[in-house]
Amino acid sequence: MPVHELAQLTWEEVRDLDREHTLVVLPVGATEAHGPHLPLDTDVVIATAMARAGAKRLGARDKVVLILPALAYTAAGFGAAFHGTLSISRVTVTALVVDLARSLSEQGFQVLAIANAHLDPEHLTALNEAVKLARADGLLPVVFPDLTRKPWALRLGDEFKSGACHAGRFETSIVLREQADAVRDEVRQSLAPNPQSLSQAIKAGKRTFEAAGGPRAYFGDPAAATADEGARLIDALGAILEEAVSAEI
Ligand SMILES: [Zn+2]
Repeated sequence: MPVHELAQLTWEEVRDLDREHTLVVLPVGATEAHGPHLPLDTDVVIATAMARAGAKRLGARDKVVLILPALAYTAAGFGAAFHGTLSISRVTVTALVVDLARSLSEQGFQVLAIANAHLDPEHLTALNEAVKLARADGLLPVVFPDLTRKPWALRLGDEFKSGACHAGRFETSIVLREQADAVRDEVRQSLAPNPQSLSQAIKAGKRTFEAAGGPRAYFGDPAAATADEGARLIDALGAILEEAVSAEI
């Protein structure tokens, strides 16, 4: 069954979709500092790649899939001190996702899946809160596979598992695959690895990239990134979305 970008359709084309077989995917990124080598929209690029890979898999399972325009603004406190990061409050993010779920419910859609690439803890809390509020309000189910949790976190490579997963090998590989021209490649190749674990820093109460040991807003090993690894990671992200949605329908 086909995959559509909602924004490219006309309203009459959306009206005529078979609701019982139509799933909706919202890519969720951020506008946030990603090292000296990646653009601020890195998480939007990754979320969109995940959404498309997941949609392709779900489309092969007899579902029509509608991909929404990506969400590019969210809570990004860890990167807030870096130029260009635009951080909004957690409650705004939760309200926006719940309002979208309400609008989609009113139009008869069955499931809203979130393809999320931004891992700031405040943001993850906002999305988990939206899932709960949508359920409490009797809206369509909102499926949100949190990549920082098991089993998903175990499928995205050693760097991701270590928690050094911001603008490092994992994210840089995906951008190299999706938008190679957007990577400042000379800068990337000159960067020393930064093995500091963001997940451990978060557990220790740190609240900014600087405090977590990332003064240039990157963690992990960007110089080790490759487009081939990016392709494998996008496939893994798509499979995660597919599995999470399949468990719900
Ligand atoms: Zn990111």
